[in-house]
Amino acid sequence: MLQKELEFEEHLDVTRDNTYYKVIIVGGGPAGIATSITLSSMGISNCIVEATIEPTRKCGEAIPPNAKPILKQLGMLHLVENPRHIEYYGNKVCWGSESLEQKEFIQGIHGHGYLLDRLYFEKQLREQIKSNGTAFYEGYKLNTVSRSNAAVEVVISNMLTEITINGSYIVDATGRKASVCRKLGVYKTAIDSQFAVTFSVKTTSVVRQEIMVETTENGWWYVAPDGTNQYTLMFFTTKDEIPKKEELEAFLKKELVCLQHISKILNPIICDFEKIRIMPAGTSCLDVPYGDQWIAVGDAAYAYDPVSSYGITSALASGFYAGKALGSYFSGEEDAMSVYRYILENAFQSYMEKLIKYYSTETRWKESLYWKDRFLNISHKMV
Ligand SMILES: Cc1cc2nc3c(=O)[nH]c(=O)nc-3n(C[C@H](O)[C@H](O)[C@H](O)COP(=O)(O)OP(=O)(O)OC[C@H]3O[C@@H](n4cnc5c(N)ncnc54)[C@H](O)[C@@H]3O)c2cc1C
Repeated sequence: MLQKELEFEEHLDVTRDNTYYKVIIVGGGPAGIATSITLSSMGISNCIVEATIEPTRKCGEAIPPNAKPILKQLGMLHLVENPRHIEYYGNKVCWGSESLEQKEFIQGIHGHGYLLDRLYFEKQLREQIKSNGTAFYEGYKLNTVSRSNAAVEVVISNMLTEITINGSYIVDATGRKASVCRKLGVYKTAIDSQFAVTFSVKTTSVVRQEIMVETTENGWWYVAPDGTNQYTLMFFTTKDEIPKKEELEAFLKKELVCLQHISKILNPIICDFEKIRIMPAGTSCLDVPYGDQWIAVGDAAYAYDPVSSYGITSALASGFYAGKALGSYFSGEEDAMSVYRYILENAFQSYMEKLIKYYSTETRWKESLYWKDRFLNISHKMV
């Protein structure tokens, strides 16, 4: 062990939370918070453990109109009806042909969606929890999870303190990493190897308050407004296409040249290549989203391709249904967890069918590593 780590351990204040929580939720993103709100509404004691001290900027800001019913159920609709979030009415998409098409939501029963100020939204979620009086361990990471005699013991720590928490059930709301599941020896299946390369660009022209999507030979681009003079750009491609760090800037410049429509709105641009982030952005799932004294919600259970804009809505919905399932289970309904599984699996199955169909509409680059392998991979895993 390194000398520094040894010094740390010597100074670590080891303590125990004497409250016995019925449910311990690890992860304070949309899924974890929706679970907590649902449990609290039924009078079920719970606490949240979240690794970051303050909300950080996450990728993903578009929520479609059909997110409104779940936001309403969770008592969160007022959070998005805030001037920091923009009403949005559809996407401009170039997919499968050269033309750019406007895909409107407004004809649907739920009207418009929202372009979230994501950092602000995450702050709002935390405030909601804090105002409920829920125990919220911010800046604490999960160290260990152990289970015995229908009880769960969780050890968490930050730089100074190690705390032991006891409860009956643990919720994995840690996002794509599914950290709780991993610690319990349960692993997700990656359906594909899509990654996102994200960065921001400044522009002197007026920023359009809309989402644009455009396919190119090696993947697809997503552009969203970020404030008044900036766009967030994301390039989705296969992991194998992404070069080493030193070559990233040149790679992105080369890929940007391939754009026909998005390039028009970006002109003139100043690329902030300093802040390039690379992250997994494919589809992944657990075989079963629950087990012995644990349940997974949000991306930890099912992570969706961002082309679907399902991520945040599904995270909220799975948190809501997991909370309800736990409530029923604690009241003696043995089947509650399998009902939860049924709801999530059906939604995922329907998403997969739509995803395959959608990707198959882009047929222009039959030899491209991204388009060819991607579709084959997904189809193969669905059989
Ligand atoms: C590039 C990209 C673009 C996207 N675009 C969209 C979009 O436009 N619309 C949309 O709806 N979705 C989008 N998504 C998906 C969306 O962001 C996620 O689906 C959503 O954030 C999932 O919520 P969650 O609560 O499950 O996980 P997360 O939001 O990832 O929250 C998990 C939380 O757990 C914490 N945590 C992790 N490990 C630990 C640990 N060991 N101990 C304690 N805490 C821990 C993390 O700090 C984090 O706060 C996008 C995703 C990507 C990658």
